[in-house]
Amino acid sequence: MAKTIQAIRGMNDQLPSQTRLWQQVETILRKVVSQYGYQEIRTPIVESTDLFKRSIGEVTDIVEKEMYTFEDRNGDSLTLRPEGTASTVRAGNEHGLLYNQQQRLWYMGPMFRHERPQKGRYRQFHQFGVETYGLHGPDIDVEVIMLSARLWKEMGITDHVKLELNTLGEPAAREKFKHALVEYLEARKEQLDEDSLRRLTTNPLRILDSKNPQVQAALDGAPTLNDFLDDTDQLHFSQLCERLTSLGIEYQINPRLVRGLDYYNKTVFEWVTDSLGAQGTVCAGGRYDGLVEQLGGKASPAVGFAMGIERLVLLLESLQKLDTNDAIADVYVAALGDNATGYAMQIAEQLRDNMADVRVLLHCGGGNAKKQLKRANSAGVKVCVIVGEAELTSKTAVVKPMLGQHEQQTLSTETLAKELKQYLD
Ligand code: ATP
Ligand code: MG
Repeated sequence: MAKTIQAIRGMNDQLPSQTRLWQQVETILRKVVSQYGYQEIRTPIVESTDLFKRSIGEVTDIVEKEMYTFEDRNGDSLTLRPEGTASTVRAGNEHGLLYNQQQRLWYMGPMFRHERPQKGRYRQFHQFGVETYGLHGPDIDVEVIMLSARLWKEMGITDHVKLELNTLGEPAAREKFKHALVEYLEARKEQLDEDSLRRLTTNPLRILDSKNPQVQAALDGAPTLNDFLDDTDQLHFSQLCERLTSLGIEYQINPRLVRGLDYYNKTVFEWVTDSLGAQGTVCAGGRYDGLVEQLGGKASPAVGFAMGIERLVLLLESLQKLDTNDAIADVYVAALGDNATGYAMQIAEQLRDNMADVRVLLHCGGGNAKKQLKRANSAGVKVCVIVGEAELTSKTAVVKPMLGQHEQQTLSTETLAKELKQYLD
């Protein structure tokens, strides 16, 4: 036998049992964004490498070590998108969606990062995200957070996720804070690990979200970004906090939340859960007012978030919030004898015409009644419609309930769809 070929490590197939769960999640995501008047944008999976270098930042984890970058046949450097924001801004600039306009957009699709695969962390994973443009005030920050909170409500997991919030101020304030932080940590170098020592010169703010307890201990007493914020930033943040409170959205201010990407300013937030182990961040976002201009457009304020769908599905599965009923269809149409096959097909089509929401599975491949009923059973249907020569002649069908208390009956094809409904409740 020929050697089998396997999928790439960290890139998962989604088999029917899994796609069923995903579709439930996707249905809620689509419903909620539509409730808020957001419109979908779809961008290519491959972009110029420069797009991500210029937006995400040269010294971030993603650009330094996680991107799938390759040369195409004409020698251009291309990258499989590691996230959705840069592509959205690129498309918005390219098609004139952003300048002097307000946009509320959403996207969903695969992203690629070369990380060590583990639970909740994959090399191809999926993000759902929203991005808004053209709005300066904290009201839109509140809206995107409110939208995310509604997702949890719709999924029944509000009690299992916590909102962490911080403000990063503007780049100038961050620059001053960075100097103060570096100075503070230079004096405590012996407490830092290798990663943090490297970041001290490349990206010192990232040291704040180090997972190493010793590094975290060294940070107790460090200057905080808050001390460097100007009045406008303070006000933006306090208004955001007030409005969240008045909407009943609970949050915790985490002064060490900085996010891994360079483009954020002012508001940053994460929704985290205790139920997924180390990969606890389900959704993350913030304001990125500088990015549109940085990517060559006319300046436009922006706020958004992205969530990892794999982590969300894992969380929903662990909390048993998904419908795991694995019935493939509701009605099975069986034909006994070759002459009845065409008749069975007509009946199946007639049912699909008249009962648009009902899943009708037609038996194919012949066989006796026992074999066909066995298939009906394994498809998990509620009812079987069986036709043979006698039914063909009399224009009727036998209706055999597979579940529940109903009686077996012979019905005229004219009333079949109507009568069948009682078997499906
Ligand atoms: P982490 O700190 O877990 O690496 P991140 O800061 O790199 O996350 P973002 O770039 O903010 O993540 O992406 C938003 C969300 O996408 C994350 O909160 C997470 O839910 C999800 N995500 C990120 N990387 C992966 C991955 N490799 N596999 C699965 N989901 C991911
Ligand atoms: Mg990461």
